[in-house]
Amino acid sequence: MVEIKTDAALDAMREAGRVVADALGATRTAAAVGVTLTELDEVARVVLAEAGAGSPFLGYRPSFASVPFPAVICASVNDAVAHGIPDGYRLRDGDLVSIDCGAELDGWTGDAAISFIVGTPRPEDVALIDATQRALDAGIAAAVAGNRIGDISYAVGEVADAAGCGMPPDFGGHGIGRRMHEDPHVPGRGRPGRGFPLRHGLTLAIEPMLMSGGRNAYFTADDGWTLRTTDGSRAAHIEHTVAVTASGPRVLTLP
Ligand code: MG
Ligand code: MG
Repeated sequence: MVEIKTDAALDAMREAGRVVADALGATRTAAAVGVTLTELDEVARVVLAEAGAGSPFLGYRPSFASVPFPAVICASVNDAVAHGIPDGYRLRDGDLVSIDCGAELDGWTGDAAISFIVGTPRPEDVALIDATQRALDAGIAAAVAGNRIGDISYAVGEVADAAGCGMPPDFGGHGIGRRMHEDPHVPGRGRPGRGFPLRHGLTLAIEPMLMSGGRNAYFTADDGWTLRTTDGSRAAHIEHTVAVTASGPRVLTLP
């Protein structure tokens, strides 16, 4: 079941999205060598609380998870692709960090993720983050009325393939609105002209996860959540919540 949002709902989702952007910005500012992932989660909790927003992550337990998620952000470092549980790990120089965050405000949800490097960047990590950003940008550019979900997936996959990166085949973007995960699913790869038709008021989270080793292979860690690359290569994950509108894609989670 796909809910097409009214323009008032899109404006309300923008407000939720602004809180997500604020929380992500605060975690990025706080991230430094020696800071723990738990401390970054606490930073995001304060931003959500001060905005009067709830967390769609905290206590979330989808079908693939063995335990409820215990934090308001996912913090995924180096070979962790996504869904990392914040813990006492202290960030080190050169770590590649992906932070995913959601917010619920006035009954509407936003969801976004950023990837960045702590301290001294490795050129290959800079290139990986750049490719992931370009994959997201291409997906957003394809999120126009008259296209289909497959056009978004194809655009994302083309950038990942050109960069020689793998993607976890079982995870991708999703519809979003009153809840964080709604229909339709947005696969990481797809065929142009196929899938659910895009129209004004459809809201999607587009979130390429690129794995630098080039394989589409990952595993779920013993914590029941963290996705890690099978080959140990580093991964990046960048996400925005986007509305399809008559005047083009509207990114709802920009700062
Ligand atoms: Mg997310
Ligand atoms: Mg998402």
